[in-house]
Parts: sequence; C-alpha cells; structure tokens
Amino acid sequence: TAPRRAWTDLVRDVPDFPKPGIRFKDITPALADPQGLAQVVEALIAPWHGAGVQAVVGIEARGFILGAAMAQALGAGFVAMRKPGKLPARTLSQSYGLEYGKDCLEVHEDALPAGTRVVIVDDVLATGGTLGAALALCARLRLDVQGIGVLIELEALAGRARLPAQVRIETALRV
Ligand code: 5GP
Repeated sequence: TAPRRAWTDLVRDVPDFPKPGIRFKDITPALADPQGLAQVVEALIAPWHGAGVQAVVGIEARGFILGAAMAQALGAGFVAMRKPGKLPARTLSQSYGLEYGKDCLEVHEDALPAGTRVVIVDDVLATGGTLGAALALCARLRLDVQGIGVLIELEALAGRARLPAQVRIETALRV
C-alpha cells in the first residue's frame, strides 16, 4: 500500500501574506488532497463525538469549508458567520481586532433557536480575536457552545489565553 501522507505535511508557510512580516499557514494543499481532506475532517470531528452537537458554526471563509464537512459527518446543521454585508436577512454584528487589522463578523439573528448545542470552527487560532467575536455572537444568540475546533493553533500568538478559560478549545495541530 502507498504510504499515508499526513495532512500536516500538506500545510505550507507563505511568507509576507497578507502583509509583510506575516507568515501565513496555507491549508489549501491539505484540502486539495483526498486523503488530506479526509484526515482534516476526521481530526476536527474526533473530539465532538457524543457531544450532541446540533449545529456547526463556521467562520468565513475557511471555516465554511471545514464546518460544512464537519456538520455532515456529525449529523449536524451548519450556520455561517460572515463578513459584513454578506448575509441577506437581519443580522447581529460583532467587531474585533485582528492580527493584521480590524474586522467584523455577522450572523443571522434567527440563525438557530436559543439553547442549540453548537461547535464553532475556524482553520487557524491566531490572536483569538475572531473566535472571541464568534463566541460573543453565540452568546447573543443564547446558543449552548460545546466548544471551539480549529485545525491549527499558532501558540506564539497566545490566542487561547484571550478566550474564556471555561471554553473547550480543540486544536488538531499546534505550531
Ligand atoms: P485571530 O483573530 O485569531 O488573530 O486570527 C484568526 C483568523 O485569521 C482566522 O479566521 C484565520 O483564518 C485567519 N488567520 C490568521 N492567521 C492565519 C494564518 O497564518 N493562516 C490562515 N490560514 N489563517 C490565518
């Protein structure tokens, strides 16, 4: 049998993206590979078997790719948290500071009923600003957040320390 290539070997560093001095973890080669994609989804869902997850909340844009695949594998629904102006119906907005700039996340105000058990997903935990905003939106929707799943945690940026200590954070790869 052919040797199994690990998805972690298919993540590449892109220097100076999106700004000089930022070293960007690019997961697109891992997603393009059939085994890589399967491993990525398996790694993301593994912590949540038996957690009764009813919906996966994915953050634009890579969180959509990962979150939709996770949702289907977990038998859950999917909800998008988007950049401003993209969602058609009435939204809640949450602004936040980013590793490289400032941004805002939105979610439909009627996306899910209060009390729905959700997991939030994104590709990378950097400073934690994005996931902090996602948690705030989930709190405003009164969702029952089981935790956060990310593929890669950039430990040097200490994003985990900026998120509430009681929130379960599952990361597939720490670098
Ligand atoms: P934070 O808000 O934690 O500083 O940044 C996380 C957000 O920025 C995530 O939505 C993530 O997609 C993106 N991001 C920040 N740094 C990187 C990186 O090195 N690689 C990738 N793929 N995304 C990053």
